Amino acid sequence: GTPDISESPLHPRRKSRRIMVGPVPVGGGAPISVQSMTNTPTVDVNATLRQIGELAQAGCDIVRVAVPSQDDADALPAIVAKSPLPVIADIHFQSKYVFQAIDAGCAAVRVNPGNIRKFDEVGPSICKAATDAGISLRIGVNAGSLDKDLYAKYGGPTPEALVASALKEARMFEDVGFHDFKISVKHHDPVTMVQTYRLLASKGDWPLHLGVTEAGPAWQGTIKSCLAFGALLAEGIGDTIRVSLSAPPVEEVKVGCKILEYLGLRQRHFDIISCPSCGRAQVDVIELAKQVTEGLKDIKAPIRVAVMGCIVNGPGEAREADLGVASGNGKGQIFIKGKVIETVPEDRIVPTLLEHAREIAGRMESE
Ligand code: SF4
Repeated sequence: GTPDISESPLHPRRKSRRIMVGPVPVGGGAPISVQSMTNTPTVDVNATLRQIGELAQAGCDIVRVAVPSQDDADALPAIVAKSPLPVIADIHFQSKYVFQAIDAGCAAVRVNPGNIRKFDEVGPSICKAATDAGISLRIGVNAGSLDKDLYAKYGGPTPEALVASALKEARMFEDVGFHDFKISVKHHDPVTMVQTYRLLASKGDWPLHLGVTEAGPAWQGTIKSCLAFGALLAEGIGDTIRVSLSAPPVEEVKVGCKILEYLGLRQRHFDIISCPSCGRAQVDVIELAKQVTEGLKDIKAPIRVAVMGCIVNGPGEAREADLGVASGNGKGQIFIKGKVIETVPEDRIVPTLLEHAREIAGRMESE
């Protein structure tokens, strides 16, 4: 049957309250959503919409756009009107853009109260505008924007300092009766980040937006995000995630989706099982695995394809796979569910696998 992706197979999820980001529920047992942020100039509506389309295709649930200037704020209505994903406006410094974003129909606004001028004065009217429009907010702090006093008190952006800052902001909103917000407490170091979210999670039932900030280029950033999100999600902590990479945003979405898939928190798509190859390998497993992955990357059905370098551990080891190949002697044994169905010459391995994979995937999709 279909696995229940709203529950973690590893740990019961932390009970959080639910907010809505447009049509996407966050918290309260909702499936964990994947977010990303466009890196086109927001004022360039067409380029931004094109990128949002790409992110949606890759499995993104919620998109955030930066609003650093008046022109960007002015572009929001056109973006919101055509975006296939709920749009969160990301606003620093200028509270007037917050009101503009709400008027533009954004699904949510991300404000960093520590960065908004005179927040004590405008905070309540932001909450009122959000309440009237029925939208949610994201608040919270990054290590880099921690309030000076807290920085001094705790001697740096420690978990305690970040959580104290988040609690102060949360209280500010709750004091005026506003509860529709989620919190992030991002840090670039995975260990500090995990400690911070754990601490915050113990203080209240806000939905939590997980992020390792400034995680670095794709390779480093992917590892940091997997570790930090993996640790937290395996404890049931986290309601929505954003992987930050110094890479095209679509890569962030791919990593985010895979983290959830591999943790059993999102419906699986195509996956490859391939052996590392060893001295027994009779084909170039690395190249074969690469070609198969490339050829099947768009498959949405949860098909598992195995690529094994020899027949010693071939069909047996990969019995879990829907389909696979074990190579030997210049040939490939193609097997389905552990049973060899045909043997093809080496240069036919990839096309044969792809053909069978598409057929099986098609059957899965129509079921
Ligand atoms: Fe080596 Fe064969 Fe195992 Fe691949 S399947 S690692 S080639 S023994």
